[in-house]
Amino acid sequence: MNDTTFRSGYVAVIGRPNVGKSTLINRILGQKLCITSRRPQTTRHRVLGIKTTETAQLIYVDTPGLHSDGKRAMNRYMNRAAAASIDDVDVVIFMVDSLSWTDEDEAVLNRLQRSAVAPVVLVLNKVDKINDKAALLPQIEQLSQRFDFADVVPVSARKGMNIESLESTLEHYLPQGELIYDPEHLTDRSSRFLAAELIREKLFRHLGQELPYSLTVEVEQFKDVDGLLDISAVIYVERSGQKSIVIGKKGELLKQVGKDAREEMETLFGNKVFLQLWVKVREGWSDNERMLRNLGYND
Ligand code: GDP
Ligand code: MG
Repeated sequence: MNDTTFRSGYVAVIGRPNVGKSTLINRILGQKLCITSRRPQTTRHRVLGIKTTETAQLIYVDTPGLHSDGKRAMNRYMNRAAAASIDDVDVVIFMVDSLSWTDEDEAVLNRLQRSAVAPVVLVLNKVDKINDKAALLPQIEQLSQRFDFADVVPVSARKGMNIESLESTLEHYLPQGELIYDPEHLTDRSSRFLAAELIREKLFRHLGQELPYSLTVEVEQFKDVDGLLDISAVIYVERSGQKSIVIGKKGELLKQVGKDAREEMETLFGNKVFLQLWVKVREGWSDNERMLRNLGYND
């Protein structure tokens, strides 16, 4: 046995929407790479978060939740992205909300039962909401009877509780191996992509129930002008009525979205940002395979 052996590999984070998968990856990386919100469809793309330490490189795969309705092109895209990451990883995190269990959790568990090849670590998230930790035991007991988990780790992704212990558990399941990515890299995604995602997150947070699913964001310009990032982006909606909702009364909503997004970009990129946003109508973009590809839904 040699404890100084370097390990590297992929960790898929799966679970129904809203359990905290993206929050966990951001917490582990100490950076906001993955956008989060209470709404389903916040995570539409597969995003890698790369964490390199002295002893290992762990590559986390943030996944969209699996969507049972495969009729719309957008849902099919998200399902492809989610499914591709479950196969072919070294360890899987099955994340659940320690306070609730739904049919969607059931569906993810069924999928694991059918096809898990790698070891699966059960992560019970949001334990900050539970006073008596013993209350977790019945859920752990019940789930363990249904699946042979490699480990069970309770955490709070939002508050950062027990995260280091989860990280060392995961490292243990990685194979010995060299660096896969440059240790300087935090993600496989471009700054342009991350900028578009931040804008979409702010829109998801500021808009009502239905609208977020009808919109997408494309960054048209991303220029570094002597350390100032000059960024302009287009928000696509499906109908003209939606355009006025996104702009808001006297442009207030769009202004707030732009301000929030710009501030987070400045933190993420470590530069001053000049951000311009435009809103355009592109009918039916979310149910049209070709338009989806043109808008970046193409992996
Ligand atoms: P995802 O859909 O699984 O990626 O979930 P997100 O990471 O987008 O998180 C969904 C919501 O749960 C957000 O509002 C998060 O702030 C919240 N959340 C995530 N982790 C925790 C946690 O540990 N405790 C609490 N109380 N809320 C959390
Ligand atoms: Mg997510």
